[in-house]
Amino acid sequence: MKMLYSLIAICMCSSFCMGQSSNRQLATPDFKIPFGPELVIIDGKPTLYYELYITNRSTDSLLLQKLTVLDASGSSEFISWSEKELRSRHSIVKQSHQSKRSILAPGSSAIVYIEFAFKQTPAIQIIHQLDYQLLKNAGTEAGSARSAITKVASTPPLVLGAPVASGTWVAIYEPSWERGHRRVIYTVGGKDYIPGRFAIDFIRLDATGHYVKGDSDSIRNWYGYSNDVLAVADGVVASSLGTFQESLTVSAHPKFPAEKATGNYISLDIGNNHIVFYEHLKPGSIKVKAGQKVKKGEVIASLGFTGQTTGPHLHFHVANQNAPLGAEGLPYAFENFILRGRYTDIGKLGSEPWIPLPNTDQANKKSERPAPNTVIVFKP
Ligand SMILES: [Zn+2]
Repeated sequence: MKMLYSLIAICMCSSFCMGQSSNRQLATPDFKIPFGPELVIIDGKPTLYYELYITNRSTDSLLLQKLTVLDASGSSEFISWSEKELRSRHSIVKQSHQSKRSILAPGSSAIVYIEFAFKQTPAIQIIHQLDYQLLKNAGTEAGSARSAITKVASTPPLVLGAPVASGTWVAIYEPSWERGHRRVIYTVGGKDYIPGRFAIDFIRLDATGHYVKGDSDSIRNWYGYSNDVLAVADGVVASSLGTFQESLTVSAHPKFPAEKATGNYISLDIGNNHIVFYEHLKPGSIKVKAGQKVKKGEVIASLGFTGQTTGPHLHFHVANQNAPLGAEGLPYAFENFILRGRYTDIGKLGSEPWIPLPNTDQANKKSERPAPNTVIVFKP
């Protein structure tokens, strides 16, 4: 569902902080985790999200062969990705996209986007093991390097109320999308950020999975258009911007650069360095100003079609600073929602119904993040 990504336009991963090597004297890879790992509950399972930066400190090219994540003692394996699996999980800075191998030139880096679920209790500390080959003139030389121990964040999850009123909504995101929110890095002031690490695009559906009635080009025909947008917690409005106008049709809507991708938006400071972002809001609908206190459940705006978007939807994320791009995306959960089903192929959205949930006992979700492309109803 490429057309619905709102902040996918520009990936500017141009600079890195260099990390400490676990065994620098051997010129083996450096490992760095700039942010996180962050835990969130999805489908009842504690799930970790973070990015592992691997930099080749050798004077030879380095082939990434296998990445394993283990507990701190090295005795339990959580994931083990072969070169092929690893390739779908990383991007290599300054490498031609045509390359079929995971090869880091001397001095270059790979960003590995990691998400995995623990079967039961999450580990408190993890380590990474990279198996690699150095590609020397005289042949290859196999090696293996381990990262330093990484602590898993132990802060309690941020649990929020509903961002939209009752109704059926599809929560659109998928960590594996190469140009989805989760993988788009913005460099602001020389530092890299992923504001959309946990972003969700909400689109309203009818009972049969359609998001529009009649001509889909007319934004007023979209079920979610002009729906109430709600404060998810008590807070203070950090910013509100309402100067963007809408096109009446999807086809007439222009493209916007990253710095204007939000369209009309509200950011809400809910305390503890948690700033909630609501984007693409309807012109003239914003009811709050910066500095104004709001109560959880209060209507603050209407869902609209402004900024970089190709269909009316609500872009929602939480970040650690009041900046749409120069801030790190934080995990969050919703207090109460009913899981109706999911799309295994989001490309079928609008043309086919979702796959219903087989076991209704598991439909009532509390303090969870909706799984990718699931269809949910928020409970009051
Ligand atoms: Zn979005």
